[in-house]
Amino acid sequence: MLEDILNSKKCFKLVCAAGNEDAEEVERLVYLYSMAGASFFDVCAKSEIVDAAKSGIMKSCIEKDRYICVSVGITGDPHISKARILTEMCKNCAECAKICPQEAIIFENKIYNVKEKRCIGCGNCIKTCSHNAIELYNIEQDISTILPPLIQKGIDCVELHACGCDDFEVFSKWEEINKRYKGMLSICIDRSNLGNKAMVNRLKKLLISRKPYSTIIQADGAPMSGFDDGFKTTLQAVATAEIIQNENMPAYIMLSGGTNSKTAKLAQMCGVNANGVAIGSYARKIVRDYIVRDDFYTDTYVLNDALQIAKKLVDDTLSYIGENNG
Ligand code: SF4
Ligand code: SF4
Repeated sequence: MLEDILNSKKCFKLVCAAGNEDAEEVERLVYLYSMAGASFFDVCAKSEIVDAAKSGIMKSCIEKDRYICVSVGITGDPHISKARILTEMCKNCAECAKICPQEAIIFENKIYNVKEKRCIGCGNCIKTCSHNAIELYNIEQDISTILPPLIQKGIDCVELHACGCDDFEVFSKWEEINKRYKGMLSICIDRSNLGNKAMVNRLKKLLISRKPYSTIIQADGAPMSGFDDGFKTTLQAVATAEIIQNENMPAYIMLSGGTNSKTAKLAQMCGVNANGVAIGSYARKIVRDYIVRDDFYTDTYVLNDALQIAKKLVDDTLSYIGENNG
């Protein structure tokens, strides 16, 4: 059961990105990381993406203790936003295409465009464009429409990105999720719009309707920022988790947002006793060159090289998390 993995601090969650609608990529990532020992997979709340994740698990031939979480967000959440290039402002300099971690920006018919399915809303392109030619737009998610078919398909967790300023939207979406799904829920929260106190207060209110330890709190240090592998990159994830840990709430704690190969070690050094680590940007980046290859599934050398890289990240992470026994 998912609870057993969380209790034993053996939970490595691969985040495929809440906005990643590229089914082929999701299947390959889940396949690879399932073989590498990851047990939890965070995917976009769309039927075809849940199918892709299930197919990745099946192909890995390890179906025991493999769990799927779907993520939903609120208005303004970058996790469910997409970038769009304003063609009339674009100078075709290609800087955005070079920096996009998803290779989502392509040059076609003499203009640069964003492939919506591949975009994860990280905003890197916006920071790079010196001509203000890129904007983010939000994807509307109606919980009452998107959840029922996913629940019917079979999922193991629903995660709400509860970071925005709009209390009403956060609590009404949470109520709707609670009404529709009786299994494990996850709250992904960061301090970008909330101070420490407001974040803790929001968490306590969200937990009122939950049985003890039926919820994961995903301490999101700096969302979608784990492209580098330094201690500094992951500092906010550990700091956010420590604030939550100090409140002794009856929920599991998962580190996320800027997580990398240093996260679990830093948590151990700081005495933060997380139940698991969710890694997205960094975990995807280190295997990207392999994942995109045509011979990914067929060339044993390619697959083994990718597997070694993924397995080292999973093993190192779990060994440090497992050493925290508090
Ligand atoms: S960085 Fe800006 S100006 Fe350059 S190609 Fe991208 S959108 Fe166009
Ligand atoms: S850099 Fe990020 S936000 Fe921009 S197109 Fe690529 S994935 Fe989307």
